[in-house]
Amino acid sequence: MPSPIQPVLDQIALDMQSRTDRGHVADYIPELARVAPSHFAISVVTAGGNVFGAGDISTGFSAQSITKVFTLAIALGRSGDQLWQRVGREPSGNAFNSIVQLENENGRPRNPFVNAGAIVTTDEVLAGRAPKQALAEIIGFVRAAAEDSDIHINEAVARSEQSLGHRNFALAHFLAAHDNLRNAPEMTLGTYFHQCAIELTTTQLARAGRFLMGGTEGPRLVSQPRVRRMNALMLTCGHYDGSGDFAFRVGLPAKSGVGGGILAIVPGVASIAVWSPGLDENGNSKLGTEALERLAREMDWSIF
Ligand code: GLN
Repeated sequence: MPSPIQPVLDQIALDMQSRTDRGHVADYIPELARVAPSHFAISVVTAGGNVFGAGDISTGFSAQSITKVFTLAIALGRSGDQLWQRVGREPSGNAFNSIVQLENENGRPRNPFVNAGAIVTTDEVLAGRAPKQALAEIIGFVRAAAEDSDIHINEAVARSEQSLGHRNFALAHFLAAHDNLRNAPEMTLGTYFHQCAIELTTTQLARAGRFLMGGTEGPRLVSQPRVRRMNALMLTCGHYDGSGDFAFRVGLPAKSGVGGGILAIVPGVASIAVWSPGLDENGNSKLGTEALERLAREMDWSIF
């Protein structure tokens, strides 16, 4: 029996192509402001190893905050539960780059997916090494997860964010003021900006997410108990102050990025990557969320 997945993806991609209300491309990173909002791509890798896709599945996009999932896996592998002394595990209810909560809570970020928490996580991965070495480990992890060595950092995107990353510099210095940064703010942020500038296609991202679906497909990079915890964090914190709405509409653990990508996991069943550069008011892909909502409904995929 042919899989019902491909026709569903084709129909979603077709419908998304004709949409005019596509949200707004992130413009606080100048290089991202140049990306055409007309792109749409969706890829699915199943637990059985089958790959499906529709739309611009061969065009690379900026992974941005989706990379926070990979650095979290590395940091937990290195430091285990010690990481939780430096960063919490609660949804923030605030914007991804908010500084208000960090001050109220004495420099301990709410979770590893808001920027402050991701900066701490990257700082943990850096741990006194040269940024080059830490970045080699991060890109190495993503390539190993995808089993694809053709995944790279877009240097222009990294430099573009670095030149105007005032909010992230403020967050890093604030963390340092609270003794919650081990490396110089410039070092940690240089690593963080480059990590965020990892570029990949939806096919590569869906493959890189396989370790989060559990089961036997793809390399087992993280233990099953840790995979469950990472999925719990993605569900509760993966879309910042849009996390509740995303869980309500889609019902899957997922992580978004301001490049317009989303990685979503159907535990034991599939790893999904979607990309549409236009964002909603919370900085999450507008059509990407809608596409996942439809796919989840039509495939009857939900953790609930
Ligand atoms: N590099 C981006 C930033 O720090 C990542 C944010 C995101 O994707 N939500 O602002």
